[in-house]
Amino acid sequence: MKLVLLGPPGAGKGTQANVLCKEYNVAHFSTGDLLREAIKNNSSVGMEAKVYMDKGELVPDEIVAKMITEKLKNSDTDSGFMLDGFPRTKKQAEILDQALAELNILLDMVLYFETNEETILKRLTGRRVCRGCGYNFHVTNIPPKQEGVCDFCGKELFQRDDDKETTIKRRIDVYNNQTKELIDYYQEKELLKKVSGDLDVDLLFADLKNIFAEAGLK
Ligand code: ADP
Ligand code: ZN
Repeated sequence: MKLVLLGPPGAGKGTQANVLCKEYNVAHFSTGDLLREAIKNNSSVGMEAKVYMDKGELVPDEIVAKMITEKLKNSDTDSGFMLDGFPRTKKQAEILDQALAELNILLDMVLYFETNEETILKRLTGRRVCRGCGYNFHVTNIPPKQEGVCDFCGKELFQRDDDKETTIKRRIDVYNNQTKELIDYYQEKELLKKVSGDLDVDLLFADLKNIFAEAGLK
């Protein structure tokens, strides 16, 4: 399966991608994860991106587009991939279309995670991320077995700087102003499939498995 996961911050894209890529053995390309990795490594790209991310703004299109096109070019994409958090602007979507065309890759589906603002706020303020493997937990929705410790690698969990309430509000505005129009963009290409981002992790996972089975995706 070759998918794009679209939806507001906190809609559960990353969480579903985490479980789906294990279940289906496909690559998970998350621009957010790649950017946080760049910051951790103190690279120049990371330093530039951090200024935008801390404010809840989008990182410039050229930076994220380069990250993703390099991933697509240098990875074995035959068994499939999930793009999580990319594209986020019309410009990025156009760059992606061109890169996929050059690589002879067709997207199967764009999953749109529809959700409401209350859910988003609750999810993002409660989100805790593993410093080691990047897995996303939630203080009440997806609690780790031991508080503050990752179930999978044992490393410490932390709250992202951009998961503070004022920054979250800004990220939602940015989504509404710059990303939301991609719903129409992919609807016109007949790729859009709407799912409920409000569902609990397991229920949405089950829904997605049905959707893929019906569409013959694996
Ligand atoms: P979320 O989906 O919860 O907002 P992400 O980890 O996807 O979290 O993104 C975190 C931040 O990284 C965004 O607020 C933005 O600054 C930056 N970012 C991630 N993906 C992109 C992208 N495709 N274009 C521009 N900025 C991005
Ligand atoms: Zn971990």
